[in-house]
Amino acid sequence: MSTENIVIIGASFAGLGAAHYALKHVVPQLPKKGGKNYTVTLINPSKDFYWRIAGPRAAVSKTLMPESKYIFPIAPGFKSYPKGSFNFVQGTATHIDSAARTVSVTTAAGEHTQIPYAALVLATGISTPSPLFTQTTDAAGLSATYDSFQKVLPTAKTIIIGGAGPVGVEVGGEIAEFLNGKPGWFQSKPKNQKAKVIIVSAEKKMLPILRESISKKAEKFLKRIGGEVIYNTKVVAATQEGRDIFGPTKVVLSNGKTLNADIYIDATGGRPQTSFIPAAWLDQRNKINCNTKTLRVDVAGPRVYVVGDAGSYTRGGVIDMANAIPVALTNLKIDLTSQITGRAPTQERHYTADNSESQILPIGPSKGVGAFGGWSLPSFMIKMIKGKDYMSKQMALPTVEGKQWAKEGKWKPQPVAAFTEKVGFSSG
Ligand SMILES: Cc1cc2nc3c(=O)[nH]c(=O)nc-3n(C[C@H](O)[C@H](O)[C@H](O)COP(=O)(O)OP(=O)(O)OC[C@H]3O[C@@H](n4cnc5c(N)ncnc54)[C@H](O)[C@@H]3O)c2cc1C
Repeated sequence: MSTENIVIIGASFAGLGAAHYALKHVVPQLPKKGGKNYTVTLINPSKDFYWRIAGPRAAVSKTLMPESKYIFPIAPGFKSYPKGSFNFVQGTATHIDSAARTVSVTTAAGEHTQIPYAALVLATGISTPSPLFTQTTDAAGLSATYDSFQKVLPTAKTIIIGGAGPVGVEVGGEIAEFLNGKPGWFQSKPKNQKAKVIIVSAEKKMLPILRESISKKAEKFLKRIGGEVIYNTKVVAATQEGRDIFGPTKVVLSNGKTLNADIYIDATGGRPQTSFIPAAWLDQRNKINCNTKTLRVDVAGPRVYVVGDAGSYTRGGVIDMANAIPVALTNLKIDLTSQITGRAPTQERHYTADNSESQILPIGPSKGVGAFGGWSLPSFMIKMIKGKDYMSKQMALPTVEGKQWAKEGKWKPQPVAAFTEKVGFSSG
């Protein structure tokens, strides 16, 4: 009996979800024909999952957000599956050969290896321009970054944040409340302001996916803890003056002004981690170009899929994965089944983006703004849901353990015509 791999690159929100879904709902349902076993091989540079959602508070204080709330070992999350069905490779994928169907990997121990795939799921996500929100190599590296930041933060007087998306606003709120204290009931600014936190917004409002009145409310909460916002302006250059990774920086703005920051944080959005992926598979933003219905990477040949923020199909975020992962993995099952049986697939599962106004964000531990499904939510509710610990207690460990994927979920089969017309059927 030979063993074939369902290879998943990246073990964060998307990759963990894909691995659990494959182990629960794909591998057990594949036809027992052709004398093959299937194993799920998950590749990731770190052996630990980073609950990135807590990044804005984790960056600011290890007391307010201890590591135990945002770093979780991956292996124990998979111990319930049958022996031999799951394999974790601590390493970095460096190359994909779509003709030979192999992934080249440099392991954490420095060895080079090639892993063949019967099906491949790309889940390499995004890195952030600031090192505060990405686990580049391992948990120790991230912890050292936080130590460096937390050493200089308490004495910083001017903190500038480039970018007014949710990450910029959340980290701005955390820093402002950490340095200036809790907002008073009737105060419009802090009693003893020690530091100024300036958020630079490229648009006329913050928080692109939320309505303007919510952005205004966020600004009001920020002001109460020493935050301010500059609108319609971009950071055009940020030049660090010292050698430390966080320190005095000259920040040049598109309005012609130059500001001196004790710390500058670049929160201008994620960059797809796709440099090792064949260029022909990428779009102009370096995202992995996929069929936005099936999440197949059609140009990559048979049985290659993308899930998570690296994919061209999504505006990003964790909520969307509930829609995407079952689609990609169901189509993977359909395609593998077809390869095993030699019969062309007749149906496939389709993804529909949920682009509703859904986003919640704490503004420091005390306040928050947001909406869900188009309904604006009150501050106390955001504080309750996310403000306490950035949802670590309810959701971080269950993410590693794949609790969300216990059920396969209902879906409406779609005729496979769109796929066959576009690329032609290949059981490869
Ligand atoms: C500070 C911050 C707060 C956020 N808060 C929220 C929130 O509250 N709600 C929400 O919905 N979204 C939030 N987001 C967005 C959310 O974090 C992303 O949507 C999510 O991380 C995307 O998950 P992913 O698995 O696609 O990719 P990532 O989380 O980026 O993970 C990609 C994984 O792939 C690995 N990888 C990359 N390249 C390789 C390679 N060559 N070989 C092997 N492995 C590789 C990486 O090491 C990583 O483990 C936040 C983002 C940030 C930065």
